[in-house]
Amino acid sequence: MKRVVVIGSGLGGLSAASILARCGYDVTVVEQQSRPGGCLQCFSRAGVRFETGMHYIGSALPGQPLHQLMQLYELNDKLNLVALDHEGYDIINIAGQEFPIANGRDGFIDALAQYFPAEKDNLNRYFNAVETVASALTLGNLTGGFNANALRAAQYHTTALDSVVDSMFTDPLLRKVVVGNMPLYAGVKGRTPFSQHAFIHDFYNQSAFRICGGSDAIATELIRNIERYGSRLLTSAKATRIITDQSKAAAVEINGNETLPADIVVAAIHPSPLIDLLGDTPLLRPVFKRRMQSLPASLSVFSLYLKFKPDTIKYRNNNYYAYRNDPWSCQELDSDGLHQGYLYMHFCDRPRQEFANAGVLIAYMPYELVAPWKGTPINRRGDNYRQLMDLYARKLIQRAAEDFPELPDSIEQYYTSSPLTYEDYTSTPQGAMYGVAKDVTLGAAGRVSHVTRIPNLFLAGQNVNSHGMLGVLIGTTLTAADIIGIDKLKELI
Ligand SMILES: Cc1cc2nc3c(=O)[nH]c(=O)nc-3n(C[C@H](O)[C@H](O)[C@H](O)COP(=O)(O)OP(=O)(O)OC[C@H]3O[C@@H](n4cnc5c(N)ncnc54)[C@H](O)[C@@H]3O)c2cc1C
Repeated sequence: MKRVVVIGSGLGGLSAASILARCGYDVTVVEQQSRPGGCLQCFSRAGVRFETGMHYIGSALPGQPLHQLMQLYELNDKLNLVALDHEGYDIINIAGQEFPIANGRDGFIDALAQYFPAEKDNLNRYFNAVETVASALTLGNLTGGFNANALRAAQYHTTALDSVVDSMFTDPLLRKVVVGNMPLYAGVKGRTPFSQHAFIHDFYNQSAFRICGGSDAIATELIRNIERYGSRLLTSAKATRIITDQSKAAAVEINGNETLPADIVVAAIHPSPLIDLLGDTPLLRPVFKRRMQSLPASLSVFSLYLKFKPDTIKYRNNNYYAYRNDPWSCQELDSDGLHQGYLYMHFCDRPRQEFANAGVLIAYMPYELVAPWKGTPINRRGDNYRQLMDLYARKLIQRAAEDFPELPDSIEQYYTSSPLTYEDYTSTPQGAMYGVAKDVTLGAAGRVSHVTRIPNLFLAGQNVNSHGMLGVLIGTTLTAADIIGIDKLKELI
């Protein structure tokens, strides 16, 4: 039995641990927090639950990509998935006009062609490009199959989303609608690759679901699998050093005082703190270390968790993205100090619910705004920080009330989180929403590989491949393939 230490118990770490444990490895997951799950965590306040970093997932019907991966990770039938509205799982509001984003190729094209009939051919062209990117990332390809789409998709990894969308559509309003889901990949003009958008659009286009009861069910099931195969999770166990010998990783030190010997180390954390853990090891080149520590951060967010008064807010079976004008400027505050854009979602606590008990409003917040409080303890950052959170909360509620006038009077209580909260809970620098930002201007220098020059040190999690439920599980599968071998992986699939 080979001993594996997995650092981090987010989706990346738990999925890696579960597949390795299933293959007979002796796995120990070390998690710095007292609760596992990273962004899968939920929390409860005043009798209602909130999700922190996994609000909806897609492609989960039999035959679809996430369903296949959930089969591999033994998650199917374990999650209570509730389908979002097929005819508009996302609603995009541009300057007060609402557009539905529907499931399925035809559903999506037909719904938007009603508003933009002259663009129907362009919508078809656009969707061909989305499918080219998505089909290059099937499980079949991961296990060594050749797919010509992988070659065709390559151009979309190096071309910015805005330039592809601008070249495909003539109507400026449709260009805005098509990128209206950009908080899902924290899009930045001229930098975010079209492939990132396409991958995520396809993910939800195939099917879209909330996880009824909360996304922490994913963590619970993965941990159950890990333990069922005789492996384990240690919480309140912060990896403080990766000890190397002349040629490889030899052990992981936890909490500065205990050492776990390891034949294999999987780091499912951001690459920058990983480099810190490796100290001055000569096994990695200084240029590589510098590159990993200067990768760009994706944008960060302020989340406003809302507990509603009973039976006041009808449950929305979709996600609502609102922009006063241009999604590309939704990071900015308008001249009246309110957010240009925000995302609004409800928490699903039971199927077919009539009223929502809880919801969340999400808007961008620059890390610099909260950086002065770095190092202060969560919930005890002082009055000035509290006032800043309250100010942001009130402004965001005021902004959302432009589209939902009933909202302010329906809120019983609210709770906030800032980029600092995410940084403190996950150790992702700057609380970056999706870790390292994908950036076409960096080319290969912006890429994080799942393998390193240290032969038994692997990476997993959202910084390898892509973020999100599908992106992370694909990344883990790439990592696992290198450890267990492609034949074993095919056998499991
Ligand atoms: C606001 C928000 C909303 C999102 N919504 C969605 C969504 O609706 N759908 C979707 O698919 N994706 C969504 N995502 C993205 C998704 O949550 C992430 O991509 C994914 O969960 C990341 O998993 P991970 O394992 O890579 O990292 P994380 O979840 O960040 O886990 C890393 C873990 O490592 C631990 N750790 C770090 N350093 C150490 C150390 N030294 N020792 C021990 N442990 C350590 C951390 O404590 C943490 O538990 C959202 C993200 C955010 C921020």
